[in-house]
Amino acid sequence: MSSARRILALKVDVDTRRGMEHGVPSLLDTLAAFRVPATFFLSFGPDNSGKAVYQLLRNPRFLAKMLRTNAPGLYGFRTALYGTLLPAPMIASALPGLCREIEARGHEVEFHAWDHRAWQDTLQRKGAAWIRKWFLLGFESYEEVLGHRPRAFGAPAWLLTEEAVGVLREFPLEYLSCTRAAAPFVLEGTGLVEIPSDLPCLEEVGGRDGVSRILSALDAGGVHVIPVHAEAEGGIWRDAFAEILRGASDRGYEILPLSLIAADRRREALHGRPFRTALLPGRAVPCSV
Ligand SMILES: [Zn+2]
Repeated sequence: MSSARRILALKVDVDTRRGMEHGVPSLLDTLAAFRVPATFFLSFGPDNSGKAVYQLLRNPRFLAKMLRTNAPGLYGFRTALYGTLLPAPMIASALPGLCREIEARGHEVEFHAWDHRAWQDTLQRKGAAWIRKWFLLGFESYEEVLGHRPRAFGAPAWLLTEEAVGVLREFPLEYLSCTRAAAPFVLEGTGLVEIPSDLPCLEEVGGRDGVSRILSALDAGGVHVIPVHAEAEGGIWRDAFAEILRGASDRGYEILPLSLIAADRRREALHGRPFRTALLPGRAVPCSV
């Protein structure tokens, strides 16, 4: 069945220094060419991507995924050494002018991470004190750079824990975009509406060969959020991203910032529930849904 509403939001995650420095400007050009807005979730603190190298040794599925998606081409060789053989450079906080340019060009900037890698790799065993410090460092850096508070938080690797949800409610946010659920809900314990990324990202459908799979998910209409990574869609999959934007436009989609979709959902009586955990197709580790 096809739905009358055809709305798409672009949720752009910036996880690395390379993604910030090179991916973001490239994405800004693509978005300007299509005259569409996006919502950027930035990592402000250190880029410890190199620590992922250890994951290779520990998780064979991760290695398979890295090879399948051409990770060295995606993230670059230096990125693979940050935080190990090379010192970890700061991400968004080192490029304040670029952060403000994102907003000046009509897009939204929200909070994704202080140390993205640390959240992804160690959150499961961290308590409230560590999580609170992680948020405080991140929010402080965000405000210093942008001069106002973020409206939203998007959890790194779409990963939540009970402890993280407990700390989250201490911060004055308007909405969350932390999961890969199929539909929005109110995240129990926070009172905040969660706007999930319901579509797969390019990386999960095999890169540019997967564009048609993403576009066919748009055929039925409705309100959708696609997760985009500055490292990928602002790099080797720049053309594939443009193809998605063209396909969405051909299908009659209006592209809106995530905050508008969240505001719309807050007016509805959404059901509340806790987050769940699932292993999605094309992903190496489970995430929150
Ligand atoms: Zn991320």
